[in-house]
Amino acid sequence: MASKQMVFMNHGEGETSYARNSSAQGGLQKRMKPLIEAAITDLCTLYPKKMVIADLGCSSGPNAIALVSFAVEAINNHCVQLEQPPPEVCVLLNDLPGNDFNAVVKGLVTLSESSKPGLVTVGIIPGSFYERLFTSGSVHLFCSSNCQNWLSEAPEDLTRNLVPAYDVDEHARHERLHMVSEAYARQFRKDFTLFLELRAKELVQGGRMVVSLVGKSSDDRTSQFLHLWEMFAKILCVMASEGVIDRAKFNSFYVPLYGPSDKELREIIQEEGSFSISDMRVHDRSSSLNNPNTTASWVANQLRAAFEPIVVQHFGEVMDEFVRTAERRWSVEGSLEEELARYPRAQLVVSLAKNKKA
Ligand code: SAH
Repeated sequence: MASKQMVFMNHGEGETSYARNSSAQGGLQKRMKPLIEAAITDLCTLYPKKMVIADLGCSSGPNAIALVSFAVEAINNHCVQLEQPPPEVCVLLNDLPGNDFNAVVKGLVTLSESSKPGLVTVGIIPGSFYERLFTSGSVHLFCSSNCQNWLSEAPEDLTRNLVPAYDVDEHARHERLHMVSEAYARQFRKDFTLFLELRAKELVQGGRMVVSLVGKSSDDRTSQFLHLWEMFAKILCVMASEGVIDRAKFNSFYVPLYGPSDKELREIIQEEGSFSISDMRVHDRSSSLNNPNTTASWVANQLRAAFEPIVVQHFGEVMDEFVRTAERRWSVEGSLEEELARYPRAQLVVSLAKNKKA
């Protein structure tokens, strides 16, 4: 069922678009830059004549070309420094077919035009990264930010047995918390394992992958869900108890999102076996949301940009009311800060090298 859910961010460049409400994610991408540069340095020691670089789950707006731009810049800097002839670079951006690729294309063309003619070619690869996207042994570097939190579907153990992911009833919710989060963890393990297998097939020998996702630090026992979904679910819960959205409908609403711990991520990578971990960093994320922009309406709009398509598909047009409810909930001074502090979060950044036998 959930595979039919529309997982894409809000289209366009308007007030509620992902393009205008993704500066927090953009900040997180910057932390990947040194790892992308290091991966490029390693790749360039093989003196490749051409390189294929792909971003998986690019979405739209400025973030779509940020990671591939870091990579192209790193290639140029490396070659200038070592007086090496630059390789031809092919930059490919992927996302689900429902993504707003229009704005992405303009950014890609700008990227291509900023290099010598013919040196950087560009393209779009629509499709799910839980399926094969590229021919075998064809890609040198994969980058991906804030994406593998999105599962291929909500856990079947819950959807098939009609177990609510986030029960309106607080007691029932607490009773099932462990079971629900275990079901999500299993789904993440299955999906991320598949993701690694597929990318290993598509990478050249010695190929690299730099991935960043939102998670929790291993010693954090307080947050079972991905914090953003939890903040979001709480507001929907208020709307359900006020009768704005149907309670039964809320209990059958599943968001295919999960945030692993660094320990879980490491285990999955090691068990799958195609990659070695070259570098893994765990950043505290609280600071990226606690910036001067952090007002109730700013957070509500960030949530709206990411979740609107999936919510509207299930509940209809309720997002204006969602923003009003969120603003009301956080109108008491200090309440938003308190809520943000309650969900400590981590940004996991991992740089992987494909193993020889993979
Ligand atoms: N990389 C961008 C966008 C992150 S938002 C950034 O860091 O800001 C997550 C993106 O992942 C969305 O655009 C969503 O459509 C995409 N996505 C989710 N599941 C996907 C899948 N299975 N295959 C490809 N893209 C996916």
